[in-house]
Amino acid sequence: MRQSPSREPSSSHAPLALRGGAESEESAAASRASGVKRSCDHVQEAESILGAMDWPSDTESDASYDEATGHGKVVLDADHALNALRPEIRKFVFEKFREWEESARFTVPPEFRLPSPKRHRRSSKKPRASEDLEASEVSDDYLIIPQNDGYFRIACPFSVSDPGAYKSCMVQYDLKTIEDVIRHVQYHHRIPPYCPRCNAIFSRASVRDDHLKTRTCTVRSPKVIPGLSWNQVDRITDFDDARAGDRARWMRIWEICFPSEQPSSPLYLSSGVGRLVSLCRGFWAAHGFEYIMQVAERLGAEKVESWVEEGAIDALTNSALQDLLENIFQEWDMNEFRRA
Ligand SMILES: [Zn+2]
Ligand SMILES: [Zn+2]
Repeated sequence: MRQSPSREPSSSHAPLALRGGAESEESAAASRASGVKRSCDHVQEAESILGAMDWPSDTESDASYDEATGHGKVVLDADHALNALRPEIRKFVFEKFREWEESARFTVPPEFRLPSPKRHRRSSKKPRASEDLEASEVSDDYLIIPQNDGYFRIACPFSVSDPGAYKSCMVQYDLKTIEDVIRHVQYHHRIPPYCPRCNAIFSRASVRDDHLKTRTCTVRSPKVIPGLSWNQVDRITDFDDARAGDRARWMRIWEICFPSEQPSSPLYLSSGVGRLVSLCRGFWAAHGFEYIMQVAERLGAEKVESWVEEGAIDALTNSALQDLLENIFQEWDMNEFRRA
């Protein structure tokens, strides 16, 4: 697999735009060649339904969106041989996470953070101790050693509003900054193109328009399609003030999304299962790649080099993070069930 300039162990992704719903030829070829695929492939249909392909081309690049939120990460094809290692990895890293979690110190991020410039990419073989360091802590000359293991992640307002319906926001997207939240809600929570006659949802507006022209569908009673209107999407950007603190900025987003509701939990994923998700992401940034390599070397020593070269190890690392998060949710749900 061609080495993309943006690979890193915990958040590698194909450096491509999702716009138009089509992979770039280069990345599509790379994916085919390596037997790995972007995680969005299996949710391609859902993405389409969300109307992702209608996003105007003059908005922020999808590449920066992908980088910030983990969209488009490379994951293993379902039939890739490395999947055989996943049950072993899942067990191993879950135990490691439980050990690590006991002493991990996470904090709420500083209220006022400098906008994070694009981080310098690292070699996929050298994970940084903490991915959570932000621009405010890095000067040109030296690095200030953080007093904690990471920052709590920020909640998607939709998952605060309805945690059950929007669990995937926590599992699939790593929202570290308000900018991440803004991009996430604008991209993933817009009302998709739909037919006002029959309420059908379409992958893109042009397909909906073609459907409308036929006027052959059955008229049904109007249905509320959940999501943000274009007006709301625009207001989120218009009303954002980067000089305000995170809390004030998040509340502005909330008020635009849910004008008649109050949030039932704080903006940071700092308690309950959200806290575990924050910790898990910090743990993964610090140790995920290392543990994956340990298991891979133990179980398939002679093939590890080729797996690294073809990018399959990165894909396995991303798939294993999803497995770990699923484990965390399962255990949490089980404990909730016992408590009830
Ligand atoms: Zn969300
Ligand atoms: Zn229709």
